[in-house]
Amino acid sequence: MEGTFRALRVEEVAPGKFDQRIESQEIDALPAHELLIEVEYSSLNYKDALSAFGQPGVTREYPHTPGIDAAGRVLEDASGTFQPGQQVLVTGYDLGMNTAGGLAERIRVPASWAVACPESLGARDAMALGTAGLTAGLCVQKLLAAGATPEGGTAVVTGATGGVGSIAVALLAKLGFRVAAVTGKLESAEFLTALGAEKIIDRDMLAEYSPRALVKPQWQWGVDSVGGETLFNLIKATGYGGAVAACGLAGGAQFNASVYPFILRGVSLLGIDSVEQPLSAKAAVWEKLAGEWNIGEKLARITEELSLAQAPEFLARLHRGHGIGRYIVNLN
Ligand code: NDP
Repeated sequence: MEGTFRALRVEEVAPGKFDQRIESQEIDALPAHELLIEVEYSSLNYKDALSAFGQPGVTREYPHTPGIDAAGRVLEDASGTFQPGQQVLVTGYDLGMNTAGGLAERIRVPASWAVACPESLGARDAMALGTAGLTAGLCVQKLLAAGATPEGGTAVVTGATGGVGSIAVALLAKLGFRVAAVTGKLESAEFLTALGAEKIIDRDMLAEYSPRALVKPQWQWGVDSVGGETLFNLIKATGYGGAVAACGLAGGAQFNASVYPFILRGVSLLGIDSVEQPLSAKAAVWEKLAGEWNIGEKLARITEELSLAQAPEFLARLHRGHGIGRYIVNLN
């Protein structure tokens, strides 16, 4: 298909210095995959900030269009999987990493990366959830499979004001859990209590390494988007038979650990990846997020809508850890 579209392009303007600007692109320059989508909404995730600021573990070659999430209408599908006009959504796989991403009016991807957008969500709410919502859903799903129940004890969420964190707080509260929210933004306590958090914990309390092998249990279940020493501090304070789902590294990738919480308390550490999940597993979580796990008006409370032109400023905010909730980008 011929024609042009607008995209957020990231360029390395000097060694290690990355610039973002809106540029016009040729549709023909998109990768030669079968599914061409007119993007209606995209969203901003921490990984997009890493791509926009040159993290080589996310994006190897520039100029590049970031955006790991996209939802919109099918323009063409050479695979025949989707009909023109059908609303679909794509999260993860290589979108926005080394394949031109969703911060653009058009994407072209393998049809095997897309799921039908749940009708009850539509493109806007699907992107308000985005990879962050999918990841929070996968964390909760794995915790439930590990035996988590509201009666079993409190659920703790780290990086609580962030995208994954804020949706995890709202989802766990919806499912009846008492939620403790760990945050570096104590001034956002009201935001977190409105999402359903009963207790707010200063992130500094969990940030440092401590040589103690175990501490008094403070919760039974956890969703951790921060990683680093915070993750093992969460595990050390998890009650007998509890579990922590680890999905992120906003605070760091390395941590010191011992086997004691695992062999003395039977605590489980559950790894979460949203990117390479089989499409059917992603679709199943999307159906839940659209149905029985729908967080309702809380989704609007955590979502801020941006234009494409505003994306660079907000990507910089996410990069500094200063984001709050979810940012969607309107490409209509
Ligand atoms: P956001 O930027 O929206 O949220 C991250 C939050 O983490 C911040 O708002 C902040 O919350 C907290 N934080 C930031 N910096 C630090 C720090 N130095 N130390 C401790 N806490 C910090 O990111 P997302 O929600 O999009 O992603 C969160 C993490 O999860 C990222 O590491 C991301 O890469 C990962 N992720 C992994 C996925 C997977 O498939 N495994 C999928 C999606 C995300 P507060 O101020 O409230 O403490």
